[in-house]
Amino acid sequence: MLSAVESDKFDTLTARTSEQIKAGLFTAPEVDKLKFTLKKGFKNGWSIKKMSDELDKSIKIKDRLALGEDGKLKLNDKGKPILRLSSKYRSMMIIRTEVTRTANNGALDNYRKNGIERVRWVASTGERTCPFCNSMDNTILPVNQAENMLPAHGMCRCTYVAIARLD
Ligand SMILES: [Zn+2]
Repeated sequence: MLSAVESDKFDTLTARTSEQIKAGLFTAPEVDKLKFTLKKGFKNGWSIKKMSDELDKSIKIKDRLALGEDGKLKLNDKGKPILRLSSKYRSMMIIRTEVTRTANNGALDNYRKNGIERVRWVASTGERTCPFCNSMDNTILPVNQAENMLPAHGMCRCTYVAIARLD
């Protein structure tokens, strides 16, 4: 788990332009604080709630605003930015997503160490399952390809199941 946090670059959360910072993506120091919180949380067995409270204490998380195809903030007809997720809920969402991701990557690491070469994508199917996850349900993937695919989106509850070798 800890090494999975350490090697993670948090690509989808990291801002690369000033416009992305305005949209609420994280600066490099903020990503470091998130890593620190996750590592401390895993070490001490904190709940997701506790980790997100600690993250809120260490970073002033901004609202997540919509970005357009051009990389600029998307505006509505009144010229105002479009809210994607209020800062109030973001720490919980971010922690939950990152905990799931590091747990999945940690599991893949273990599978690899144990000679497992393939995994099966298991979607928690239901009303709230997105079309993409539904379409991936039961797909068999090589372990290396499976890395960083889960969670596929915020609040994704899909997991991998190891496929035992036949020999
Ligand atoms: Zn999913």
